[in-house]
Amino acid sequence: MRSNHLVKEVKLREKDFERAIAMVGEVLEVIQKGFYPDTTKYKTRCVDCTYRNICV
Ligand code: SF4
Repeated sequence: MRSNHLVKEVKLREKDFERAIAMVGEVLEVIQKGFYPDTTKYKTRCVDCTYRNICV
């Protein structure tokens, strides 16, 4: 992980990898089935995203 001129190691645990694999599975399911995921309850959007105004 990098911030300004500082680089730090991030310790990843087994559950982090399991979550990452699950997330990839969710993305693949959306792509392969052609369905959008459920909407989020959070109102915050990614500030640099082109689609933030239509993001669900
Ligand atoms: S569509 Fe854009 S704003 Fe919405 S989650 Fe994805 S990156 Fe963030």
